[in-house]
Amino acid sequence: MKLYNALCNTGAFRTVFAFGEREVAHWFPGHMAKGLQQMKYNLKNVDCIIEIHDARIPFSGRNPLFQESLDVRPHVLVLNKMDLADLSGKQRILTKLERSGVRNVLFTDCLRQQDKSVRNLIPMVTELIEGHPRFNREENTSFCLMAIGVPNVGKSSLINSLRRTYLKKGRASKVGGEPGITRAVLTRIQVCQRPIVHLLDTPGVLPPKIESVETGMKLALCGTILDHLVGEDIIADYLLFSLNKLEQFSYVQKYDLGEPCDDIQNVLKRIAVNLRKTQQVTAFTGVGNITITVPNYSAAAYDFIRAFRKGELGKVMLD
Ligand code: GDP
Repeated sequence: MKLYNALCNTGAFRTVFAFGEREVAHWFPGHMAKGLQQMKYNLKNVDCIIEIHDARIPFSGRNPLFQESLDVRPHVLVLNKMDLADLSGKQRILTKLERSGVRNVLFTDCLRQQDKSVRNLIPMVTELIEGHPRFNREENTSFCLMAIGVPNVGKSSLINSLRRTYLKKGRASKVGGEPGITRAVLTRIQVCQRPIVHLLDTPGVLPPKIESVETGMKLALCGTILDHLVGEDIIADYLLFSLNKLEQFSYVQKYDLGEPCDDIQNVLKRIAVNLRKTQQVTAFTGVGNITITVPNYSAAAYDFIRAFRKGELGKVMLD
């Protein structure tokens, strides 16, 4: 690793990423607008908002519309997928969030069978609700939470984890799939018996306007925007840039590359060869057609990005 760090010091890696003329894809499909409308409509029955976001991007891509339209209730920010995040700078994150008014923060790993932070969520929420006027709902002894967040950050997984923890029950909410395709309905799910707590599961809603290309790229890297809207080739290159910048060189060993490299074509070529992801193409020459074997760059990019999302390339903090 020392040798790799020496490479960093020699300026072998890019210090800025060239986004070129790229623009942020504006993707706010009808079902997201409808979902947001439903969320606002249901707000009168909600005691506390649980905003879920990816712990690797605690600042980027949180939907400002949530802030504007839902900011009338107590609020807890759950930074999920902590198992994939480098939290060595946790205090810096908490301080910065606090400066922007976000005081109640929990880091969670919702895939863990029993997560201590998930266990802390209901007591934290109960305390917040009890210290806050309950509008016209004083007589009601049960609580209603609303889970909000951009697609694929783990809303369904959190709900399932709460149910496992407090009700000893299995899945109520479907996990996984492509980020935020069609669902627009709000589902009401019980997550705790004492006190009785229900949670409104909402569709993932992206910001209608993503603040910069870099934010879009981070959201894409974490799997919250459909890959094809950004392009897997550029996501893979931004991933390589980020890993090198963070001096997170696990990819070298994972793909048996020998040493870090900042050239995505070179890295993808070697990944493709290593994983035997090659394809046959026909070349037309003056003396007839010949079939040659070339690396399948798309398949290699796909593997590189998926490995990162599964945590196989080490923990990162992208913000
Ligand atoms: P939603 O779209 O916000 O409801 O997200 P899901 O709950 O469907 O989760 C999206 C993906 O993230 C799934 O593949 C989950 O298995 C994964 N996931 C959810 N929570 C965690 C977590 O804490 N850690 C890791 N590593 N993956 C998670």
